[in-house]
Parts: sequence; C-alpha cells; structure tokens
Amino acid sequence: MNYNDQLYTSFIKQKIDALEKMTDQDNPYTRIVFSKKFYEARSWLKNEYQKLGLEVSTDDAGNLIGLLNSKTDTDKIVIIGSHIDTVPSGGRYDGIAGVVAALCVVKHIKENDINLPFNLAVYDYLGEELNDWSISCIGTRGMIGALNKDILFRGNSSGEILKDEIDKIGGNSKLLTKPFTIIKNIVACLELHIEQGKVLEQKKIDIGVVRSIPSISRFSVEINGQAGHSGTILMDQRADALVTSSEIITFVNELALRLSKESNQHFVSTIGKINVHPNAAAIIPGKVEMTIDLRASSKSSREQYITELEKQINKMNQSGPCKIEMKNIAFAPYVEMDKELIKLFKESSDDYGFSNIIMDSGAGHDTAHLSRVAPASMIFVPCKDGLSHCPEEYAEISDISKGTSVLFKMVEKLASLNQN
Ligand SMILES: [Zn+2]
Repeated sequence: MNYNDQLYTSFIKQKIDALEKMTDQDNPYTRIVFSKKFYEARSWLKNEYQKLGLEVSTDDAGNLIGLLNSKTDTDKIVIIGSHIDTVPSGGRYDGIAGVVAALCVVKHIKENDINLPFNLAVYDYLGEELNDWSISCIGTRGMIGALNKDILFRGNSSGEILKDEIDKIGGNSKLLTKPFTIIKNIVACLELHIEQGKVLEQKKIDIGVVRSIPSISRFSVEINGQAGHSGTILMDQRADALVTSSEIITFVNELALRLSKESNQHFVSTIGKINVHPNAAAIIPGKVEMTIDLRASSKSSREQYITELEKQINKMNQSGPCKIEMKNIAFAPYVEMDKELIKLFKESSDDYGFSNIIMDSGAGHDTAHLSRVAPASMIFVPCKDGLSHCPEEYAEISDISKGTSVLFKMVEKLASLNQN
C-alpha cells in the first residue's frame, strides 16, 4: 500500500470531512453517543461498510462491525477498531481517524483481492468517550464482560437507563455479563489513534508505537462549609467551601508535578470538574463538589499520591473550617500492549522507512480494555500542538495516511504469520 497514493489520501480526507458534518450545528464538533447525530453517523458508517462489501452487524455491546470474511474457512479474527463518538465540543480526528484508517485498509485489501487467513473486522466501538452515565468505553467493556448491573442500570441526567440505550442501538444488554465468545478467536486487536499529546510533533516522528496505557482513577471530593451572607459574616467567622477547595486544587497540582518528576513515567492529575453551591455572587460558598482525575503508569507513584492526598485531607479536616470527603468512583488498571505486536508494528513502520518510537499513552483507549483478554496494540500519529478534545484538534491527512499504511503492513505481517 502506497501511503502517498492519492486514491487513499483523498479517501481518508473525504470520510473525515463527511463525519465532520454530522455534528450539533451550534457546538462543533459534538457527536455524543446515543444522540441523534450519533445515530446519523452510525447509519452513514453502515453504508460505508456496505459499499466496501462488508457484512454489517451490531454485537450485543452495541459495537458496529463491518466484517470481511476470509476465503479460507476459519474462526480467527483480526479487529481494527476505534470510535466515532466525540466529547462535547470535541475534535474531528479523535477515534474518527482510526475508523477511517480501518476502512481504508479494507478498501486496499478488497481492491487488490488479497486473501487473508483470518476474518478482518472493522469496529466502531460504542461510546468510547466519558458520557453522561459516567462511563467510557461501553462497547469494549461490554466485549470483555466488564459492564456490571451497577453500570447497566445507571441513569443519566435525563433519567435514561444505560441498558435501554444499548438495546435501542441494536445491542442486547442481557448478554453482557461475561466475555464474548469471539474473544478466544482474536489474533490481534489493532487501533490507530491521534496521539493527543505533543511528543511526536515535537520530535518530528511519524509513528508512535504504544507500549502501555496508564491506570485511570477518578475521585469525587465533597467539601461542606457553611453558606452565609457575603456582607455580614466576618472573614474569621467563615467556613468557605470554595476557599478550602482551592487549597486542595493547589495541593493536587503540586503533588502531581513532584511525583511526575520523581517517577520519570507518565503521571498526571487534574481537577477539571467543579460545582459550587449555591454559586451566587453575594453568598459564601457552602458546598463544593469536584472530580479528581489521575493517570499513572507507575503503581508506586499512584499509591504514594493517594496516601499523601488522604493525609492532607485528614489534616485539613482536623484543622480547617470545612468537612471534606473523598471517594474513589472509577478505576481502570494500567495495561501493557502485547510485546509481539509492538515488535511487528515497529517493523511495519520500519518497512516504510517511517521514523518511530515506542511510547506510553497518556489517554485511555478501547484497546486498553481489550488488551486484558486478547493480544492488542496501537499506534499513534501526530496531531497539531497536541490539542485534542477541542474543536482545534487537527491531524495532517498525510500523517494519518502513513499510519494507515503501517496498519495495512501489520495485517499483511499477521497474515504471513498465520498462514497454514
Ligand atoms: Zn479516542
């Protein structure tokens, strides 16, 4: 596959442009899972699968699959997947680049009548982004049997139950309690994704071969003070929940900065969500809720972070005017990608003469979930200024095209390894 071939670059551009239009018009680029625009994009993708001659289906977890059956009778399967949902006011490439690249690989295989010793499936994994049900990667969690009742029966802010939405889109929420039978036939799960960071761009490197995906933890923090009149309660009489929150925010930032330097591995922590009550100009904030997001490649740094943070909160509870409560609300463990697939991805990139590095991911991905039950690996392509989850998100078509050709080469290598 020639990555410079205009046949492929214009195919990639055309598909990305088409998906870009399926957004909430007032809020580009927004295509939230289960929304009207998401359904529109799904039927567009179904049509793309059909145009390529793929067998279309939706699995029990609501993943949309386009299957290219091998001419050899086999159950073996290679999956190339990513996602077409976005965060609110997100980008045009996150997830999308991976699905479009997979379509392009299949197009090349079909047009050149290449027979593979395994079935090849393009997956649009359902709802990769964190949604209103406080869950990400619905489709891949479903595949590995990690959607428990607590998650499936969760309601969103409009009271819609997650399992009902999965059923409406063609899944079967009753069958999501154990890993799918397809898993034992998986030869490899592959994913191309934009890096969502600045490493590749700054080092001018074409391909990042992902070695690991960090653990992700989320904690809710509730700070209870006392609301009161902003004019009459004197400064030394206050229990201002927002002031106490600001101490926690600063502490978290400084702690994460120190641990990231000490561990020399991926370590970041963010407080990006905060609700202030009653949130009024003339009232002392009585209550604050916030969410801490922590991503770590090192287990010991993660544990140290939690210990130090808990110690600090204890201290503040004893000496400060507010009552602070912290709860762990979500956790996804650190995972390593399959070593053999990492090697093959690197060789595939070398075959084209593309510069490449082995790197750790900063973000969570569907492939992290699948890697717990099947051989899985992913590659990153550069994106502009590392920006992602925002409308400015941008990746060069030529870079996506390079990644796509590496993906194809990878399928070719797996084919020759699985010939019998
Ligand atoms: Zn993504």
